[in-house]
Amino acid sequence: MSGIDNLPPLREVIAAHGLTAKKSLGQNFLLDLNLTAKIARAAGDLTGADVLEVGPGPGGLTRGLLATGARRVLAVEKDPRCLPALAEVQAAYPDRLTVLNADALQVDPLAHLTPPIRIVANLPYNVGTELLVRWLTPGTWPPCWDSLTLMFQREVAERIVAQPGSKAYGRLAVLAQWRCEARIAMHLPPGAFTPPPKVSSAVVHLRALPEPRFPADPATLQSVVARAFNQRRKMLRAALKGLGPDIEERLTAAGISPTDRAEQIGLEQFCALAQELDARKP
Ligand code: SAM
Repeated sequence: MSGIDNLPPLREVIAAHGLTAKKSLGQNFLLDLNLTAKIARAAGDLTGADVLEVGPGPGGLTRGLLATGARRVLAVEKDPRCLPALAEVQAAYPDRLTVLNADALQVDPLAHLTPPIRIVANLPYNVGTELLVRWLTPGTWPPCWDSLTLMFQREVAERIVAQPGSKAYGRLAVLAQWRCEARIAMHLPPGAFTPPPKVSSAVVHLRALPEPRFPADPATLQSVVARAFNQRRKMLRAALKGLGPDIEERLTAAGISPTDRAEQIGLEQFCALAQELDARKP
C-alpha cells in the first residue's frame, strides 16, 4: 500500500480537524477519492510535471494529484484550519508536496515550481474567475503553465468554451480561446460536494497553445473585447465609439459590419480589429 492509501477517509479528516465549510472561502469539498482521482487524470500525464493546486482544503484532490504521479505539488491554501489535514498528506509524500498557507492571488508559482507546470484546482468560486483571467493574461506568452484543469460553476465553464452566436459567448471565451484549446472535461452535480452548492459544476481543461491563433496585441485585444461586451446588446459602432470617431471605418476595414453586435464576432475578427486600431494609431 502506498502512503496515500494509509490516509484516513476524507469524511474522518474533516471531522477530526473540525473543518466545517466556510461560505466566505468558497468551501465545497470533494470527499470521494475516486472523483478526485478522475479530476487529476483529466489534467493529463502529470509525471514529469510540477503542479500548482489552489485551495487544497482537506486534501482530496491533492491526494489524487500525488497518486496520479505528479512530480511535485505546491498546494496554496488560505484557510489555516486545513493545515493539519494537509500535513498528514505531506507526511505520506514528504518530498513531493509543499503546502503554503497563503492567498493564491499573492503567490508566484515560478518562485516555487519548475516548468513544465500544470495548474489543477477545485477553485473557490469567489476568486476563480479572477485567477483564471490572471493566468490567461501573463506578461509574455507562452505562459509559465502548460495546462489549466479547473473546476468552476457550470455557467462559468460554459462561458469559457462558448462559441460566437451564443448567450454565453463573451470576454472570457475570447480570452481563453485566443491562446488556448479549451474544453469541458466533465460535469458534476451539486451532490458531488460537501456541502452541496446551489448550482452544478464543471471541470474545464485549457491547454496553452505555443502561439496565439491570430496575431494581435494582447492589451489592445483585451480593451476592445471588454468594451464590446460591456454593452453587448448595442451595435458595435455604438459600443466601441469611445475608440475613435472613425470606428465605423475601422470596423469595416477589419471585415466587421458596424451594425453587428459583439456576440456575433469571432476571434479572428476581434484580432483583425485590434490590429487595425494599432496600425492606425497616430
Ligand atoms: N480542493 C478542495 C476540494 O476539492 O475538496 C477544496 C475546494 S474548495 C471549493 C476551495 C478551497 O479554496 C477552500 O479550501 C478554501 O479555503 C480555499 N481558498 C479560498 N480562497 C482562497 C485563496 N484566495 N487562496 C487560496 N485558497 C483559497
